[in-house]
Amino acid sequence: MTLNRRNFIAASAALASAPALGAVSAPGETDVAIVGAGAAGIAAARKVAAAGRRFVLIEANDHVGGRCVTDTRIFGVPFDRGAHWLHMPDINPVAKLVSRSGLDLYPAPPGQKLRIEVYRRLARLRDLKKLDDFRQELRDRYGPPPEAVEWLLRTTEIRLLCVRWQIASIRRLANDLVFTYRNADRAKQLSAQSRGRAKVVDEKSIYLRLKSEDDDSPEGLYRLLRGVLNPQQNG
Ligand SMILES: Cc1cc2nc3c(=O)[nH]c(=O)nc-3n(C[C@H](O)[C@H](O)[C@H](O)COP(=O)(O)OP(=O)(O)OC[C@H]3O[C@@H](n4cnc5c(N)ncnc54)[C@H](O)[C@@H]3O)c2cc1C
Repeated sequence: MTLNRRNFIAASAALASAPALGAVSAPGETDVAIVGAGAAGIAAARKVAAAGRRFVLIEANDHVGGRCVTDTRIFGVPFDRGAHWLHMPDINPVAKLVSRSGLDLYPAPPGQKLRIEVYRRLARLRDLKKLDDFRQELRDRYGPPPEAVEWLLRTTEIRLLCVRWQIASIRRLANDLVFTYRNADRAKQLSAQSRGRAKVVDEKSIYLRLKSEDDDSPEGLYRLLRGVLNPQQNG
């Protein structure tokens, strides 16, 4: 049976959990309680079962697999809302389950490998200087980035600025951009730096009201956020 990357991970989560979930004990007959039926919980359950101990595996969600979840309902075709790839198959314990299950495992196409590498490096970036270096490296190696990559770089930039200001999230609410902040002092500083454009309205929110002259496009909102979060670099 050939299984593509997308449904392999979902299948492997179910595959890995099946013996574990099948062995759930009755209350009062449990040696170990495991909270969460994601990859870690399933692996723990398998270890406990292999050691001949009784366990209960408790999952809050309506599916096993945790962040390895394939959605088949929304678009009528499967797509991964979380994990998609098996990294380092030589040492990945999930990859070992493949041979026992009769499934095929095949390498990601070279373009996809590059994409994963870009995601991975972006996720690890911790400061704007390194982001600039990475942006330049991409340009040097591959030429001007396509728009999708440019947006990955921009969203990473906004993420790093949010870390700097201790902002947990930004969302659009009608004519406002709503920032959820973690640190009241930093929130006040940000408001002052924006010359009152961004207003602290309660103990967790800053509101930035969009003006009629503001460019409402994704590009315009990116520039606006950049201008408020990092005015020195804007331009
Ligand atoms: C968008 C995205 C893409 C990813 N892509 C990849 C990839 O391609 N390859 C890869 O290897 N990894 C990928 N990952 C990472 C991978 O999904 C995680 O490393 C892995 O799923 C973590 O497993 P876990 O068991 O530690 O946690 P989780 O998968 O988060 O499982 C935790 C489980 O515990 C449950 N839980 C939590 N608290 C409670 C509670 N109090 N009571 C009951 N249940 C509880 C949760 O509902 C959940 O089911 C990706 C992650 C994301 C978000």
